[in-house]
Amino acid sequence: MMAAISASQHGHEVILLEKMEMLGKKLLITGKGRCNITSSLGMEDFIKNTPGNGKFLYSCYKNFTNQDIIEFLRKQNLEVKEERGNRIFPVTDKSQDVLNCFIKKLKELKIEIKYNTEVQKILTVKANNEIQITGVKTNNGKIEADKIILATGGKSYPLTGSTGDGYKLAKELGHNIQELKPSLVPLEAYEKETCKKLQGLSLKNVSIKLVDEKIKKSIYEDFGEMLFTHFGVSGPIILSGSAHLVRYKNLSNIVLHIDLKPALSENKLDERIIRDFSEAKNKQFKNSLDKLLPQKIIPIIIEKSGICPDKKVNEITKEERKKLIEILKNFEIKIKGFRPIEEAIITSGGVSVKEINPKTMQSKKIKGLYFAGEIIDVDAYTGGFNLQIAYSTGYTAGMLQED
Ligand SMILES: Cc1cc2nc3c(=O)[nH]c(=O)nc-3n(C[C@H](O)[C@H](O)[C@H](O)COP(=O)(O)OP(=O)(O)OC[C@H]3O[C@@H](n4cnc5c(N)ncnc54)[C@H](O)[C@@H]3O)c2cc1C
Repeated sequence: MMAAISASQHGHEVILLEKMEMLGKKLLITGKGRCNITSSLGMEDFIKNTPGNGKFLYSCYKNFTNQDIIEFLRKQNLEVKEERGNRIFPVTDKSQDVLNCFIKKLKELKIEIKYNTEVQKILTVKANNEIQITGVKTNNGKIEADKIILATGGKSYPLTGSTGDGYKLAKELGHNIQELKPSLVPLEAYEKETCKKLQGLSLKNVSIKLVDEKIKKSIYEDFGEMLFTHFGVSGPIILSGSAHLVRYKNLSNIVLHIDLKPALSENKLDERIIRDFSEAKNKQFKNSLDKLLPQKIIPIIIEKSGICPDKKVNEITKEERKKLIEILKNFEIKIKGFRPIEEAIITSGGVSVKEINPKTMQSKKIKGLYFAGEIIDVDAYTGGFNLQIAYSTGYTAGMLQED
């Protein structure tokens, strides 16, 4: 959408082809339906938050910044607000309002939109020893064009229309596609039974570490919210962690360490447990943790502690308390791998950045072919950076500059 708007604003006649019945299906589900539009950080920080070829985006980020998208929305009468973590959202908390801004602008520019129109092939001719774009073949016939911007998205959440078609179309024209991998994706655990028992439990304010146990290296540390699922773990801090694992070579020894009580040191936690225990000395251990932990996790903690669930709390030894504290401060889940790409927020990999001019987004292989958005081998962390990639590359591609 941004590419079409930019192309029109730069004086070109534009047709926007969308294979779904509507535009922006993925945009609608961003930020849990609230759309984390962008970040308020400086553009240098955008590069830092884009582990997948961030530097390639330097020119694009300059051409169209976070302030530019905020201004674009403001001109369509949508104000934004900043939340924790420099995240920018629409004041209305509705991604639909962000989508409406794009649609309003497309209409204002009188851009022709063809829905239910799937591009199946990019048509070219060879002239003067050079391959030139002539148009596209779609399920609704051929459309002539001398320039094409391929902005078909990634391969995740295919029901939104991003089914990875663009990779095939680019490959047919000789482009190399870097291996497609899920990023910002839930993680599968070996301890499926434990996770199944905890399914649906959301832990707020926990801290996590993803550690390569073989070399005792901490790959990622975070604090916030996570969630247990039937296959393993998910939630904001897990998804963020997964983006750090994508580029990690050896995934076979990764263990997730969860500190269930990060605000309390071991000593403070011991004091707290002693206090809880002393309030009802004759209570059985299994009934003594209600104040400390969510109900669902208590049986698992009891099992892992090795303390007899029926033991009276006043009979629990210092050693046993020590073991309990160890588990509360270090609840371990062994990670098996990623959930499939279809469940990922982002597709890592895509059209090789070596084959795209970073100043123009034009293909270095085919004149007149441009790329924008997630189809390119770029990917970022959460925080509004991935949508900014789409606007910035879309805007730059839309300039349709020639090399
Ligand atoms: C659940 C979820 C939440 C997210 N939340 C955020 C967030 O809050 N902030 C953020 O920055 N990022 C977020 N993202 C990531 C962000 O949505 C994507 O990075 C971004 O949408 C990519 O934009 P794009 O235009 O490249 O691709 P897409 O948005 O996927 O759009 C591609 C379009 O191309 C169409 N298309 C595909 N193939 C063809 C074809 N052959 N012919 C015609 N049309 C075709 C598709 O139907 C689709 O409409 C989220 C992603 C998901 C899945």
